[in-house]
Amino acid sequence: MSGVLGAGLSWVDLLFRGRPRAIATGVISGGGTLALVDPGPTTCLETLDLGLQKQGLRLADVTHLLLTHIHLDHAAATGTIVGRYPRIKVLVHERGAPHMAHPEKLIESATRLYGENMDRLWGEFAPVPEENLVVLRGGERIEVGGRSFDVAYTPGHASHHVSYFDSMSGVAFVGDVAGVCIDGGYVLPPTPPPDIDLELWTSSAARIEAWSPRTLFLTHFGPVNDARPHLQALLENLKTFAGFVRTSLAEAGTDEERGQRFAEQIMREFRRQMTEAQLASYRIAAPPELLWLGLARYWRKRSA
Ligand SMILES: [Zn+2]
Repeated sequence: MSGVLGAGLSWVDLLFRGRPRAIATGVISGGGTLALVDPGPTTCLETLDLGLQKQGLRLADVTHLLLTHIHLDHAAATGTIVGRYPRIKVLVHERGAPHMAHPEKLIESATRLYGENMDRLWGEFAPVPEENLVVLRGGERIEVGGRSFDVAYTPGHASHHVSYFDSMSGVAFVGDVAGVCIDGGYVLPPTPPPDIDLELWTSSAARIEAWSPRTLFLTHFGPVNDARPHLQALLENLKTFAGFVRTSLAEAGTDEERGQRFAEQIMREFRRQMTEAQLASYRIAAPPELLWLGLARYWRKRSA
């Protein structure tokens, strides 16, 4: 259900859609503050609260929410939590901040992807009052949990993505920019629309590697200890996926059919390397149809 990363650093498994190891929230405590990295969807708020309690912590004591980015699986619960505890500061990249204060457009574009499942998957996405927002650009050093974190702007997966590095413990909270890796399985680059950018993603991976982190903490899912080979596998797999999608764009059929074929292609690849239980968590953390859409948009933007 949860785990320890180091002194004052831990995580809670949000058991998203009843599945273990799909979405994790990072927990940083110390120096009279309690910070959560990516509080997750509102549908998991009770699980988050219970997970904190098991560690002797309380949602009511949270002082900071550190968002890696504003995708719903990472950030949907933010406004609801701040609504309950209005002293909480929310750290978010400058490109994400306006959408946290006024989420209408974000909700509209997410609804295009998730349709009628929006509420069942994510629950409420309440706005965050502007006075609670701490806007980041990357390059800052922030004090939280009795330690300091370096903030880096790490786009590629999302244009509003940042990563947080604690040099004392060597732990880097990297959201989705270091990919999805569940139980040591395939290092999957999550590529949903609309911001995927291969070049930016590659530079972001280099920025993270330059920290020489001892541990990468992935939202999907948990700690990874061999940062360099992990990031290499991520970029290789990103190239492979991008190649599959580029080829598919030249093939006959509708986008739906192309997306379907791509999903089958990568599922075959996964089945060679992973168990069905692992696969089920991957499917929930990074739905294959969305991966095609994000990369197709990237290629079409480039050729437009
Ligand atoms: Zn994301």
